[in-house]
Amino acid sequence: MSRPIVATLKLSALRNNLQVVRQAAPHSRVWSVVKANAYGHGLERIWSSLGETDGFAMLNLEEAILLRERGWKGPILMLEGFFHADELPLFDQYRLTTSLHSNWQVKALANAKLKAPLDVYLKMNSGMNRLGFSPERVHSIWQQLRAIANVGQLTLMAHFADAEQPDGITEPMKRIEQATEGIDCPRSLSNSAATLWHPEAHFDWVRPGIVLYGASPTGQWCDVATSGLQPVMSLQSEIIGVQNLKSGDTVGYGSRYRAQVEQRIGIVACGYADGYPRHAPDGTPVRVNGVLTHTVGAISMDMMTVDLTPCPQAGIGSPVELWGNEVKIDDVAHAAGTIGYELMCALAPRVPVVTQS
Ligand SMILES: *Cc1c(COP(=O)(O)O)cnc(C)c1O
Repeated sequence: MSRPIVATLKLSALRNNLQVVRQAAPHSRVWSVVKANAYGHGLERIWSSLGETDGFAMLNLEEAILLRERGWKGPILMLEGFFHADELPLFDQYRLTTSLHSNWQVKALANAKLKAPLDVYLKMNSGMNRLGFSPERVHSIWQQLRAIANVGQLTLMAHFADAEQPDGITEPMKRIEQATEGIDCPRSLSNSAATLWHPEAHFDWVRPGIVLYGASPTGQWCDVATSGLQPVMSLQSEIIGVQNLKSGDTVGYGSRYRAQVEQRIGIVACGYADGYPRHAPDGTPVRVNGVLTHTVGAISMDMMTVDLTPCPQAGIGSPVELWGNEVKIDDVAHAAGTIGYELMCALAPRVPVVTQS
């Protein structure tokens, strides 16, 4: 037997979550966002469970080519476009839809020798100030693109910085409407948060990521608890040791946790080298034998320690859920000062992954 840690991917949850998206945005097509190796889940493992999607969005050329080689024939949107002009022959060969956010890309596309035009997402900066053309320039770039033979179907794209806030898209929507007056083309504006909470921003294509994996765009599970989303990934391990502490005994590096009374603690085969957040404080939720308890002491590279007081039956070999169906990844992330996105993306390569249909 090997080290007991394992990540299980529930593929039916992906299908379910795509349905939740469809119900939330019934009039839009769906780009399933699978960047960052499908948010750490493994693109190769999960893409076919999202096979009912209208397209896949990502930003890594290798991942796009992998999808094509595995047989995906539908649209693929490269969210940041090409990073260098010499990638254009591959965009052409693999029929990738490119985002364009900068002048140099427009020129490079105009000058490329392609077999057929590429579909283009014109990216507007609606206030996030990351990528995209300023609102004032959208009209002229639009005109310019329409005159380029290498440009196929044109779509307008923007990305919200605050879509999880009730009034978080009001300003950007105003900017978008002003900048695109008189421009008649499909639009794609909505990430997961806007897909769930801002139907006025759905338009032609939505671009959900995090909700497909069953976590919250806000980083707080309570915000999506009634949405019907199901966690896809669960991280499980086992108790591999037990210590009986006397009052005053400490646990782990830095002796951060000190027992106030006699206390039984379990040593779990999971640490930060598996992707568990090292910053998790005492009290971060975890389930042992199906019972809710919490971490005590610093997270080590390969181990962590949990309070066994609520589960006196637990001992060596008892199953531990670090996150999954019961302990939500958002709750662990929140305790550690981050969001579920980061934890799923950080699942370490050394953790074996199994899929469950
Ligand atoms: C990552 C990303 C998304 C998906 O964001 P979620 O919050 O995970 O839904 C959508 N659009 C763009 C441009 C992105 O980079």
